[in-house]
Amino acid sequence: MKSRAISAVVKAVPEALSIKYNNLVYELQRKGKDVIVLSLGESFFKIPHFSFAGLDYEKGLHYSHSRGILELRKMISKFYKKRYGVASDPESEVIVSAGSKALIYMALQTIISPGDQVIILEPAWVSYTEQVRLSHGVPVMVPYYERIADIGKYHTRRTKAIIVNNPNNPSGKVYSKKELQDIYRFAEKHNLYILSDEPYSDFVKEEPFYSMGLFDPKKQRVIIANSLSKNMGMSGLRIGYCIANKEIINMILKLNQHIITCPATMIELYVIKYLDKILKITFPQIKKLMLKRREITRYMDSIGLSALPGTGTFYFTVSIQPSKLSSDDFARRLLKEYFVATVPGIGYGESLDAYLRVGIGTESVPRIKRGLLAIRTLIEKTRS
Ligand code: PMP
Repeated sequence: MKSRAISAVVKAVPEALSIKYNNLVYELQRKGKDVIVLSLGESFFKIPHFSFAGLDYEKGLHYSHSRGILELRKMISKFYKKRYGVASDPESEVIVSAGSKALIYMALQTIISPGDQVIILEPAWVSYTEQVRLSHGVPVMVPYYERIADIGKYHTRRTKAIIVNNPNNPSGKVYSKKELQDIYRFAEKHNLYILSDEPYSDFVKEEPFYSMGLFDPKKQRVIIANSLSKNMGMSGLRIGYCIANKEIINMILKLNQHIITCPATMIELYVIKYLDKILKITFPQIKKLMLKRREITRYMDSIGLSALPGTGTFYFTVSIQPSKLSSDDFARRLLKEYFVATVPGIGYGESLDAYLRVGIGTESVPRIKRGLLAIRTLIEKTRS
């Protein structure tokens, strides 16, 4: 029987490269290979096993408010105010759902009309482009070497929004106050939304993190996305949130009601009970990870590897120049011949095909160094 056509929009969406490479890792590990995993987008913290036993089990087994339980929204609102100085009304300006990835998608669905363009700064997290396309919008990519002052070149009559990922996955770039101000002014001048994706906000050390929300106290155009996945090392709990004006949150809420309903209620109760304790445990571990980043930066310098500028997150965008291989071919050979897993730069934008994403959140320093040496060796072997 002739099969029915699949949506052209969905069909055109490529597999997420990071997930593809992690699946290759699982296959090799199943065959008993020791793989140095620099491809994961996670940091593994030591978090004690807090018990589910004391939670309100009856409540936890059922749906909760589709904005997320108010108590949790209050905690998030307080957290953003205290930590980053951004105030919000937990009743109307905060929504919690099953991970920030879903909320970013719902936010894009909310602001994009078919054909609207969205400016995305490279290197760009893998899902922005596809989520814009799935929202029937047009991603307009800005190569990594462009200066913020030049973003205007990418603006057209159809531009609706700009996505900023601060600190950046995969470069680790932490935007300065001046840069954020410039982006905000640009958005203000052209009446654009700014989707500010801030899930690595605590992964900074040498440069301070400023939330884009600081520039828009009236919440005219800034939509903040964040989650517990990275800052608290709990990606498996799937708790993400958005902070924006009441109108935007009400639109996201409608989508959430039709797609997800609410985050897992039991997990919300868990987070409400333990968030403060967890933060006390994870924050020092973030600080340690940032020292590890500094050590790895020094090591890369010592072996002649370079990376895009950045001091935050647990990622590096490592250059593979002057190898003649594309980033996908390079990453595949690195995995097959040296058992080192990374993510090809091409997954983060066309301007990044001479780079790899290297994540240092899961492996020990000696193993990361071994992985980096393998990159160095393969570059030499494949010089153009
Ligand atoms: N934004 C960025 C930049 C990310 O790296 C990730 C996770 N890799 C997310 C959003 C989504 O995180 P989550 O859905 O786990 O909250």
